[in-house]
Amino acid sequence: MWLKVIFIGIVLVFVYRLFGGKVPFIDKPKEHNENEHDFGEVEATSACATCGTYITETDALIYQKKSYCSHECLKKIK
Ligand SMILES: [Zn+2]
Repeated sequence: MWLKVIFIGIVLVFVYRLFGGKVPFIDKPKEHNENEHDFGEVEATSACATCGTYITETDALIYQKKSYCSHECLKKIK
């Protein structure tokens, strides 16, 4: 009887893991310090296709594989 319960338990854990479930103590989450600055990562910059202003990739507006600093510059090429 108990063997059956344990077996079902193992199967349930296996299925749970199969669907991306995390089991504590087995799948330890990577410790990440939010305050620690990551110097290894440099944000990529690109020049605006209209005015040439350098903007970071996160701030850039991408249109037809070209980056623009603002909607004003984007409108100029339309
Ligand atoms: Zn611009």
